[in-house]
Amino acid sequence: MAQGPGVPAGVRREDRLGLGPDAHHLVGREDEVTLVLAVFFVDQDHHPAFGQLSDKLGNRCSDTAELAFTGVRVPVSHTIGTAGRGFQQQMAQFQNERMVACYGRVGACERALDRTRDYLRQRTAFGGPLITNQYLTYQLAELYARVDLCRHYNYACAEAFMRGEDTSHFATVAKLAIGRLCEDVARTCLQYHGGIGYMEETWTARFLRDMRITSIGGGADEVMLQVIAKMHGM
Ligand SMILES: Cc1cc2nc3c(=O)[nH]c(=O)nc-3n(C[C@H](O)[C@H](O)[C@H](O)COP(=O)(O)OP(=O)(O)OC[C@H]3O[C@@H](n4cnc5c(N)ncnc54)[C@H](O)[C@@H]3O)c2cc1C
Repeated sequence: MAQGPGVPAGVRREDRLGLGPDAHHLVGREDEVTLVLAVFFVDQDHHPAFGQLSDKLGNRCSDTAELAFTGVRVPVSHTIGTAGRGFQQQMAQFQNERMVACYGRVGACERALDRTRDYLRQRTAFGGPLITNQYLTYQLAELYARVDLCRHYNYACAEAFMRGEDTSHFATVAKLAIGRLCEDVARTCLQYHGGIGYMEETWTARFLRDMRITSIGGGADEVMLQVIAKMHGM
């Protein structure tokens, strides 16, 4: 392997679809002060050590494990972008990563609300379908309204991105709002399915588990709040 930036010894948690030979995208330190973004490829001679698969609350179809990079070196040819600008490049990439999560979650939440509405139509209790209970429909209506706001906020972000503008503010606000929306939608959908909603045979149980990561992955809600506070001079 050619001389190149050394990746610091350390451990990182990585989410991936199957832990086979693959490419890893990481921020590595070139020297004491410089950060370099680099991709390196797993091969038989140079690869990180995979830890045990993590036993996760949700998203269990996607493998997650700790990778140890002790002694791994990256060839110069695997550097992405500009050496020394790795931190800035990674920060910019985070905005897109957050928005990708936000785009998908809006559709997931809307589908979950539709399925719950349909369930309330066919489930009869206390002499009539549950959908006739105004409290339940108003709660769903409120969540539909929040989904709609998030969808159009996402559209505005996508348009700004296409104009080449900085979308950090959009991505931070969207990530915070949609993380909270996901939790409220998942909790409400399970609740309105009653006991059957608590069972693994019903989609609501998995949905609750899978949505929980939205408020943590890609930066926790509190980190989003910290960024927004800074943007507003606090
Ligand atoms: C399933 C899974 C897959 C992942 N995949 C990847 C991956 O592919 N690549 C990758 O790089 N990372 C990945 N991660 C890591 C993920 O990005 C971090 O877990 C996440 O950003 C939160 O960081 P942390 O776990 O270090 O929490 P910590 O920094 O330890 O924070 C713990 C809690 O403290 C609070 N907190 C933290 N900072 C602040 C603050 N400034 N102000 C107030 N409160 C605060 C929050 O409530 C936070 O949840 C993955 C994590 C999981 C669970």
